[in-house]
Amino acid sequence: MKKLKSNPKDILTRLGKMSEFLIDLDPHAGKDDCFDFPLEIIRENLLFDVSVLYKVSNIIEDCLILEVVKVFDPDGRRLDLKEGRKLQIFMDNRDGRYLNEVIAFLTRKVSCVNVPGMGSDIIGYVYLPESFGGAYLFGGDFYGKESSIEDYEIAGVEIMCNFLSAILLKTQFERQAEYDNLTGLFNSAKIKFKVNTLLKRFQRKPDSKACIVMGDIDFFKAVNDTHGHIQGDLVLKTMGKILSTSLREAFDMAGRYGGEEFLLIFDETGKEEVYQIIERLRKKIAQTQFKKTDKSGEVIENQFLNITMSFGICEYHKNADIKTESDWISRADAALYESKKTGRNRTTIFKGH
Ligand code: GH3
Ligand code: MG
Ligand code: MG
Repeated sequence: MKKLKSNPKDILTRLGKMSEFLIDLDPHAGKDDCFDFPLEIIRENLLFDVSVLYKVSNIIEDCLILEVVKVFDPDGRRLDLKEGRKLQIFMDNRDGRYLNEVIAFLTRKVSCVNVPGMGSDIIGYVYLPESFGGAYLFGGDFYGKESSIEDYEIAGVEIMCNFLSAILLKTQFERQAEYDNLTGLFNSAKIKFKVNTLLKRFQRKPDSKACIVMGDIDFFKAVNDTHGHIQGDLVLKTMGKILSTSLREAFDMAGRYGGEEFLLIFDETGKEEVYQIIERLRKKIAQTQFKKTDKSGEVIENQFLNITMSFGICEYHKNADIKTESDWISRADAALYESKKTGRNRTTIFKGH
């Protein structure tokens, strides 16, 4: 089989479009979706028979663990590469199949291997700081007798790796500035900013309405004390998921306000309606079976924890003295305190105005 010949001019033109893509890239799009466009360019222009993007998942002594993030393999040549699958590669006893991956990883450079009469592959190293989740590897295989690699193809992969690195940095940076790592919800600065944006609108349109809701997990300290902090974190993570999946249908925004405190915003919604929504959410939380872990953090099969949350609602009112975000939040907090005082696992509407 003859290796298909790629066109250097087309590659350059398409790579040039990557900077536009980078500028317009939406940091909120799904994390893995941001790779689709760059990988399509490679597919269409570099004409790999198989192309693949790995995440360097871990390095334990001489063992490299790669996770297959994306793979394009229309002819089913590499059945070992399945998206989501982890590969354990011993770096000193180099498995011929992943030799190039190991070299690219160790040298932090583009590496190519050419096996005359068999095929060739190019693998590049995509730099990403450890605090952002670490490196990736990217490249592909050409199959067939005449598969020697051209310099411009190596350069294409090198440029692409730099682009992938820039894409990852951009999406991760912007996400880190706005989102809480553990729960995936808005972080405290971002949710307060959103409350402030509403307050500014009330200055222009004093008759519009909105509610904020403060939620706080009941007896959370006991969860940590009894089952350990990994269990506590898992509960927070699950809570983030419950809130964000209720978000679409029920409310506008949710953020992690503090440790086990959440701030929700319901725009254009009055307190009675919000009360109904929060009551449904509160019951849903109370009925959820939270996964249980042992003290070392291992999930125990078929054992669950029951967790409840208390809520306080405060509707904006033009006659109330709500000028700053903390005026508003402290009223929701007062209502939450009432829920705690009267037994927890309940919802209270602020009635001071
Ligand atoms: P209440 O029902 O009155 O709200 O009681 P509580 O135990 O939930 O409240 P308290 O404020 O006494 O305890 C909150 C605990 O949350 C204490 C703190 O160690 C824990 N916490 C805060 N942030 C995190 C976190 O990120 N992970 C874990 N595991 N625990 C956290
Ligand atoms: Mg608390
Ligand atoms: Mg609490």
